[in-house]
Amino acid sequence: MDQITHLINGRAAASTSGRTSPVYNPATGAQSAEVGLADTAEVAAAVQAAADAAEGWRATSLAQRTKLMYKFRNLVDAHIDDIAAKVTAEHGKVLSDAAGEVARGLENIEFACGIAESLKGSYSESASTGVDVHTVRQPLGVVAGITPFNFPVMVPLWTIPNAIACGNTYVLKPSERDPSAPMFLAELFHEAGFPDGVLNVVNGDKVAVDGLLEHPEVKAVSFVGSTPIARYIYETGTARGKRIQALGGAKNHMIVLPDADIDLAADAAVSAAYGSAGERCMAISVVVTIGDVADPLIDAIQTRTKALTIGDGTDPSSEMGPLVTREHRDRVAGYIDAGAQAGAKIVIDGREQEFDNDGFFLGASLIDEVTTDMSVYQDEIFGPVLTVVRTDTYEEAVALIANCPWGNGAAIFTRDGGAARQFQADADAGMVGINVPIPVPVGYHSFGGWGESLFGDTTMYGPEGVRFFTRPKVLTTRWPDPSTSTVDLGFPKNE
Ligand code: NAD
Repeated sequence: MDQITHLINGRAAASTSGRTSPVYNPATGAQSAEVGLADTAEVAAAVQAAADAAEGWRATSLAQRTKLMYKFRNLVDAHIDDIAAKVTAEHGKVLSDAAGEVARGLENIEFACGIAESLKGSYSESASTGVDVHTVRQPLGVVAGITPFNFPVMVPLWTIPNAIACGNTYVLKPSERDPSAPMFLAELFHEAGFPDGVLNVVNGDKVAVDGLLEHPEVKAVSFVGSTPIARYIYETGTARGKRIQALGGAKNHMIVLPDADIDLAADAAVSAAYGSAGERCMAISVVVTIGDVADPLIDAIQTRTKALTIGDGTDPSSEMGPLVTREHRDRVAGYIDAGAQAGAKIVIDGREQEFDNDGFFLGASLIDEVTTDMSVYQDEIFGPVLTVVRTDTYEEAVALIANCPWGNGAAIFTRDGGAARQFQADADAGMVGINVPIPVPVGYHSFGGWGESLFGDTTMYGPEGVRFFTRPKVLTTRWPDPSTSTVDLGFPKNE
């Protein structure tokens, strides 16, 4: 059985806690590895390595930091397929999705290659006579990232490049369900030539997370995961004086107006609902129809959903893979029953699809006539279950989004420019798509939702990421009157 270690101070470090967690191949259901779960002392060793590296790294020139970041970028780019294979082997998503997540992660490394531009600061000449004021942004010290299972490469890359390019040193605590891909990423990082201790990885669970939250040397924590844990991280971390950004769960709505292109909307709904088996925080989980678009749209979605090829993510013909664990698959399947019991119409029941292996597979489900009091509407299902809420008016549809506790993404499908523009203003969500179902911002904008999708006041990556990982210092300087200078500057002397 493969043993997955930590990476501390540039070296693999086997866990000494005696606690481990199984890692599975979700496509076969077989255990593929065992990951050591760090105790507080192991976390402290990783933080110490990062603290020891902090002074030297902070003093490293922007030119050198940039050079190393470019090397890292090129290594990740050269290994996209290897990284994707590791993601698929432990997460289950199809290889093309896994390669897509590496590509999105690369955008963040590329943004960090431009760190010299982001850290230029600002300067006010002659704020007062002989007085100049300028602002610089300086690193925080040791920072930590705690990441979810569903994007084991992309989400760590949301923060590692900016945090480190800004001069911080970093401890990553990836999800214990699929730790091999982030470990490989950290190995590539060292291969690029970054000094030991600048990036460390500790594998673990709540014990490791609490170790990071309690450690006084950790100045900031960037978290992505479910809402209850995001809230816990935010409350615990801020109570200890740390800077926290904690992104939580989601329930994203896609409104379809009667004038929408039905084929475009149906294609978008199917790929956004069932891609990565619905295990995406930007997945569409509720289609909101307005008026008589409902029947033709649901027919079009149904036809496409039934045609989906579900299978092992390594098979190029697969469009959707398994869920991450058996327990999660069973939990998701439970919602189909709950929907039926509550009176919703099960148009496609994913439980009826049979798979001839022990993988954690579940067919795609489509549930119509859903109302807001049902658990299929109220909970984040995080699986391949698309619900449909039928409304009569735009106001009703927009109110659904406003009343949802999460506000990660929202989308509208329409050919009407005026309606689209109005939705831009009305949508209660941090990321909005117009005829785009999954509006994940590019690396030079920033990512984050509203409501219970984000605790804290800074979104992730891009310019906001640089702001999160630096603190401003304002310098006010008074210079002598040039007429008193010992060098002759040509000014009349004030004798
Ligand atoms: P999770 O909250 O279970 O785990 C996230 C991280 O927290 C992991 O590293 C895990 O080890 C740790 N953790 C788990 N339980 C903990 C506890 N009790 N105390 C301290 N730490 C704990 O999330 P997940 O199942 O890995 O990921 C799926 C969730 O992440 C979904 O809710 C999804 O919407 C969300 N997500 C959100 C975004 C976003 O940008 N808002 C992006 C990706 C995923």
